[in-house]
Amino acid sequence: MKKYNIIPIREWFSPTVTPPLIIAGPCSAESYAQIRDTAFAISKISKVNIFRSGVWKPRTKPKNFEGAGNVALDWLLDVKKEFNLKTAVEVLSPIHVELCLKKEVDILWIGTRTTSNPYSVQEIAQALKGTNTIVLVKNPINPDINLWIGAVERLLNVGIQKIALIHRGFYPFEPTKFRNIPKWELIIDLKTQHSYFPVICDPSHIAGNTRYILPIAQKAMDLCYDGLMIETHIKPNEALSDNNQQLTPVQLKNLLDKISYCGNNDTVKHLELIKLREKVDSVDMQLLELLHYRMEIIKEMSAYKKHHQLPILQLQRWKQIVSSRLRKAKELNMNPNFIKSLLEIIHMEALRIQSEENTENNY
Ligand code: PEP
Ligand code: MN
Repeated sequence: MKKYNIIPIREWFSPTVTPPLIIAGPCSAESYAQIRDTAFAISKISKVNIFRSGVWKPRTKPKNFEGAGNVALDWLLDVKKEFNLKTAVEVLSPIHVELCLKKEVDILWIGTRTTSNPYSVQEIAQALKGTNTIVLVKNPINPDINLWIGAVERLLNVGIQKIALIHRGFYPFEPTKFRNIPKWELIIDLKTQHSYFPVICDPSHIAGNTRYILPIAQKAMDLCYDGLMIETHIKPNEALSDNNQQLTPVQLKNLLDKISYCGNNDTVKHLELIKLREKVDSVDMQLLELLHYRMEIIKEMSAYKKHHQLPILQLQRWKQIVSSRLRKAKELNMNPNFIKSLLEIIHMEALRIQSEENTENNY
């Protein structure tokens, strides 16, 4: 990649803000009272540097709440002045950029859905040309790192120098515990290849639920991310969007007090080890998902065999499985005894499932 001049976070504001940069505020601006009460409570938390709010919300379905719109920029300007806060807003188009800059928003961020669309990113970049704006770029919906970096390059090409990536997780095609899959290993690789880009974690959109925010935020700090963006609402139960994942300001303060930050703890010494463990964890999860998928196929096969009155165990097929897998193991330079034992365990489980399915089918 061409060499760009990227200004580190600690030089973004004067007086200096030392990373981690902590951004907090509601998912959406709903009313003046909601913005003011949330901003007031957040302004009392010394660790928070920036107040965030969605103003125009890109919702999946047309009738969902889409944010208060333009008027919310006046609310944000009011709280910025009254509580001496810096503000951050998501922009989806050049007109949003223009409106935000007019209303003195300090940081603009590009949301996940917009990052996924290079044409929109280019239009936004054009509108930012010649300004000195701070821009944060969320990861695209799919784990496509080039698309993400491509969006960043479009901004760098128009002269934006204060820029950071926001890791908010990737769309899960299967139901998972989290709303979005973090894929930490991808970010670790990205941080290794493009170490000059600051990376901020948004645990709220990864978690989708308040109970997972602390462990995700802690993991991000263990990996020495440069900041956190955490959705916070004065009354999360009444929030008009993302109500399951928003913390109260009191919960936010407790969480920020609990986290141990990169540089304050021992983990920083063993960053390489943490990165490798992260990769192993991810591979194990993939192995489990594949094994689960394999067993689901076995169930389908079992039904087929039963329907056609075929025996469960077909020796010829088993021999073929073993010899083809051992050939592959040899290619990969893996211990054949280990692969043989592994195959036997998997096969025993497949037989157990098939006999269980057939017994069930008999009733
Ligand atoms: C948000 O931050 O409120 C938001 C809409 O996030 P994302 O773009 O990550 O879905
Ligand atoms: Mn949200």
